Amino acid sequence: DKFVYSFGGGSADGNGSMKNLLGGKGANLAEMARIGLPVPPGFTITTEVCTYYYDHGCTYPAQLDAQVKEGIAKMEQILGRKFGDTEAMPLLVAVRSGARESMPGMMDTILNLGLNEKSVEAMVKATNNPRFAWDCYRRFVQMYGDVVLGVQKTPDEDHEPFETAIAAIKKERFGSEDVEDTKLSADDLKELVSRFKALVLERTGHEFPECPWEQLQGAIGAVFGSWNNDRAIVYRQKYGIPSEWGTAVNVQAMVFGNTGEESGSGVAFTRNPASGENEFYGEFLMNAQGEDVVAGVRTPAPVAALHEVMPAAFNELVRIREVLENHFHDMQDFEFTIQDRTVYMLQTRNGKRTGVAAFRIACEMVEQGLIDWKTAVRRIPADQVDQLLTPIFDREAIKSAKVLTRGLPAGPGAATGRIYLNAERCVEAADRGEKVLLVRLETSPEDLRGMIAAEGILTARGGVSSHAALVARQMGKVCVCGADEIIVDYNNRTVSVGDVTISEGDYLSIDGTSGLVYAGKVETSPSEIIQVLISKTMKPEDSRTYQNFAKLMQWCDDCTKMKVRTNADSPKQTETAIAFGATGIGLCRTEHMFFEGDRIDFVREMILSTKKSDRVAAVSKLLPYQKGDFKGIFKALKGLPGTIRLLDPPLHEFLPQTKEQQLDLAQKIGMPVEVIMRRVSELHEFNPMLGHRGCRLGIAYPEITEMQARAIFEAAVEVSQEEGFAVVPEIMVPLVAFKKELDIQKAIIDKVAQQVFEEKGVKVDYLVGTMIEIPRAAVTADEIAETAQFFSFGTNDLTQTGLGMSRDDSGSFLPQYQELEIIKKNVFASIDQNGVGKLMKIAVELGRSTRPDIKLGICGEHGGDPASVKFCNTLGLTYVSCSPYRVPTARLAAAQAAL
Ligand code: PEP
Ligand code: MG
Repeated sequence: DKFVYSFGGGSADGNGSMKNLLGGKGANLAEMARIGLPVPPGFTITTEVCTYYYDHGCTYPAQLDAQVKEGIAKMEQILGRKFGDTEAMPLLVAVRSGARESMPGMMDTILNLGLNEKSVEAMVKATNNPRFAWDCYRRFVQMYGDVVLGVQKTPDEDHEPFETAIAAIKKERFGSEDVEDTKLSADDLKELVSRFKALVLERTGHEFPECPWEQLQGAIGAVFGSWNNDRAIVYRQKYGIPSEWGTAVNVQAMVFGNTGEESGSGVAFTRNPASGENEFYGEFLMNAQGEDVVAGVRTPAPVAALHEVMPAAFNELVRIREVLENHFHDMQDFEFTIQDRTVYMLQTRNGKRTGVAAFRIACEMVEQGLIDWKTAVRRIPADQVDQLLTPIFDREAIKSAKVLTRGLPAGPGAATGRIYLNAERCVEAADRGEKVLLVRLETSPEDLRGMIAAEGILTARGGVSSHAALVARQMGKVCVCGADEIIVDYNNRTVSVGDVTISEGDYLSIDGTSGLVYAGKVETSPSEIIQVLISKTMKPEDSRTYQNFAKLMQWCDDCTKMKVRTNADSPKQTETAIAFGATGIGLCRTEHMFFEGDRIDFVREMILSTKKSDRVAAVSKLLPYQKGDFKGIFKALKGLPGTIRLLDPPLHEFLPQTKEQQLDLAQKIGMPVEVIMRRVSELHEFNPMLGHRGCRLGIAYPEITEMQARAIFEAAVEVSQEEGFAVVPEIMVPLVAFKKELDIQKAIIDKVAQQVFEEKGVKVDYLVGTMIEIPRAAVTADEIAETAQFFSFGTNDLTQTGLGMSRDDSGSFLPQYQELEIIKKNVFASIDQNGVGKLMKIAVELGRSTRPDIKLGICGEHGGDPASVKFCNTLGLTYVSCSPYRVPTARLAAAQAAL
């Protein structure tokens, strides 16, 4: 079995495709060696050895030792040096971790390995630079002592013991600890080495190892061991990296960026990772090791400045940049060292980039012929699309911003503004020209006006499919919800987190992409795409970002299978979504219209009526409004399909809950306040989400279904006559569990359709279908499909009912569930594929068994989540539907799923 893969001297055992076996760093070192880039020779010990190590009580495969020796021998041969040489310049090595995916700073590294009391003297002679040689040795003993031998700070020490020793010698020599390391002489460093070794002996009871082979073995063990240190485990959990992957170990010949002014180190990107511009980007420090560049102790210079300092090295890097891009066909992020004017490559990998840069790089690489358009579509992370559509915090400003707390990321983008704790004051302030944030314990439909006026919404309670979250997303508002450390004091009009209290009118900033809440004002910049497509304050030809976006979206449409529709309740939302490429409405929640203007009072009258005749009268007052709404939506759709759902939420949601509001209503509609109070308490439910809602309302109050159906058909007939395009309404019945429920509702819809068609003398085509959002509906979908002409998965409720987990109350415990890995992702944001997904699969199969051509969609909040969109593609759904601002994300995810 082969456990060790060598590289260097123009060839390599491995290659860039072997990331699983060699880790990301090892595979790319091999690849760079193969294509002739200047890589110091070395070898990679495979991730299989890591797995073996943990499976066999921290021991190694028998062949490993011999293979490692052979690896060192190859390096010796290429470089003409000997490991542990005591006569001439010895071969020194760096030992580094390297997992499949990079885990920056999480695991251990040891540099300058191979030095001992004798070989350091050989190095002194060979380099003629005693200070440098002893500094290397000093650093090695310190790193090895810390990482491999575990000489670390004890609970009663304030500083790392090695640092304490350094401080002590500085004090002895210069009378102060506040002296740079460079002031220490070769003799000081020699003295430090012996004090370090004494410290090791004292703390561990063992002498510091002199034998280079023993050192190497120890370092390899430490790197494998660090795969399971606390911070690596936490990191893996956060980024979903399986512990079975293991890490590889890279042993590589040392090159030194710190031998003097002709040496240096740097990190660079082949293109600008923030803007995507095709320019050489990066920074370097002369006379420094790689760590110094990253650590930020000295300020590095931009890589372009190397042109002045050392033109030959600069030109070599420019050449390497081109070789890298031509070979890897992607933007690279690489580390280099210049040792005595010679450039060496220490690492390369695909560079992380912003969303804007991702689009630009992909498009420009297609233009350059480096990649084809399908690769461009595949390469952009769908969850980065948000970054192009929403405002973002200024990159500089955010660095110094103070994080107050965090909640759930519920509506992407960055928002800053003065806080207000109710809708009314929010609107007033916005009218005065202020930028405002609405902060609430939780939001109810009453807050809608405030939400519209606000830049962003912050709530202390609620999950990502709570009312606040889904309404915010639909309006394209930034939203952080369920930030449960926040105390909202409505009486004193303050918000506090820990000992920080801010009052109404003070600034706060929220990031709905990360869920972070920041103190004070943080500058934001608007999205160019929005300026071009929605506010029309920018011309398409003036925005490169827009052009790249449009090009990529076109490529998506060229290969996608699923359509992307939108969840929209107003003509404006519909137009926005269509501008983003939506192909229709997948969900229009009719109840959202009930809050506009005065009509809420008619809704309340309808609910408060105890007699059918009163209710019919109240309902008929709503008809013209609903019809007007639907006409607006059908017009905005311009002939695209639209799914309109009948009334869904429990009625008490529409009623005034405070005494003050009840008195107000009593006056308005001329009803005794006692009657109102009684009715409110009659309608009170302990578990409204499982109570009298959905089609259960239409069953109990058929006049509501009748009115809504009439409004839809009259609107459809009129718009198709006025506008000259066909309107084909798709009427959707919510919360169906039994076929019979749907039958009853469909009979009403069909009857009203006939009436309207006769009255108007015109017919339109229409469909009647149902939400699948109750497990019983999913498992009896074959029966339901006898009536339903389409299904739309309501995965918010299907998750809520399938898991028996409230969508509004889960914010308090779900984060812990994620931490403990009971669930991998928030189930209300990304479909629980094994559970809820299985219910969907059953429903798809059963539905098709009765009605093979049944139209299938999803309209829960998951419809805009890339992983869920991909899952829907595997189920073969006809479309996904999501809030307007997520349409582009869903288009990209759908295209990627189809490729
Ligand atoms: C759902 O349940 O997934 C759905 C789309 O309906 P609502 O969110 O309105 O309950
Ligand atoms: Mg629902």
